[in-house]
Amino acid sequence: QAKQAGKRGYRFFNAEEERSQRHRHGHVARLADALRQGELVLHYQPQVDLRAGRVVGAEALIRWQHPQRGLLGPADFLPQIDDAELIESVGDWVIEQALSQLDVWHLAGQRLPVSVNIAGRHLQARDFVDRLRAAQARHPAVADLLALEVLETTALEDIVRTARVIDDCRALGVSVALDDFGAGYSSLSYLKRLPIELIKIDLGFVRELPTDLDNLIIVRGVIELARAFGRQVLAEGIESPLHGRMLLQLDGDLAQGHGIARPMPAGDWLPWLAAWRPDPSWQAVAALHWS
Ligand code: C2E
Ligand code: MG
Ligand code: MG
Ligand code: MG
Repeated sequence: QAKQAGKRGYRFFNAEEERSQRHRHGHVARLADALRQGELVLHYQPQVDLRAGRVVGAEALIRWQHPQRGLLGPADFLPQIDDAELIESVGDWVIEQALSQLDVWHLAGQRLPVSVNIAGRHLQARDFVDRLRAAQARHPAVADLLALEVLETTALEDIVRTARVIDDCRALGVSVALDDFGAGYSSLSYLKRLPIELIKIDLGFVRELPTDLDNLIIVRGVIELARAFGRQVLAEGIESPLHGRMLLQLDGDLAQGHGIARPMPAGDWLPWLAAWRPDPSWQAVAALHWS
């Protein structure tokens, strides 16, 4: 213990670390500016029911329209702020932006749920639920269409607190999904302690369905497990119509992935919805297996 404290004491004398700290602070400052200057945008990726051949919602995914570097994905700028206060401001902006977009679509006569990703630190913040309630109050017509996605790994960090926050969210009509399920080291028994409605199977398993048969067993297992606990289950990483057929054969139905559509700017959403048709092979498989 003393040794550790001593180690920490040397922190500021470590030039390497100091440089990386300063680098990080620079990044946080630039991202805070980007947020203020409106350079962050949300793209939307559809979530569909393969069996019914219906679009059931969309996931909002953040992008940074960087003036020099172009459109950046979250992997390029979120990890550096994951444990900084800024992740809460970004998350609040994401919720507000998604609700504003929902209002626009609502006025256009289209009402489908949108889920947003919430960082662990944000979800655990003392006033998270109050701020969520306030955001809903600013968008009463669509407040019930908002849903949250929380990473399996962060949900399990403090399972008692997470369960309580999820309960509070559900009381506001906001359902919560467990994201990237299977990617972490969760104990399956934890699943029943979290009042989540939807389990999202990590795309790592789903993407390799056609090429690595072990994943078949895993995906089928997760689907069965989710059902046994009365939860819905969605497969991320449906990269082709074949992935969709395989999911249907494993008794899955909810799906998301490049084989259905890539995340798109908000402006593309309504035209995409109007034009989308499910792959004909999905209905054939669904009829064959589950009629
Ligand atoms: P996620 O929530 O698991 O989102 C799915 C990611 O997989 C997205 O990457 C999506 O573009 C990508 N994806 C979708 N379908 C396919 C597919 O068929 N194949 C492959 N290879 N990839 C696919 P993206 O947009 O780069 O986001 C990465 C992660 O960043 C998200 O993973 C989420 O954890 C995080 N993230 C995204 N937006 C936000 C946000 O607004 N706030 C927070 N805190 N995290 C976010
Ligand atoms: Mg997600
Ligand atoms: Mg995921
Ligand atoms: Mg992910």
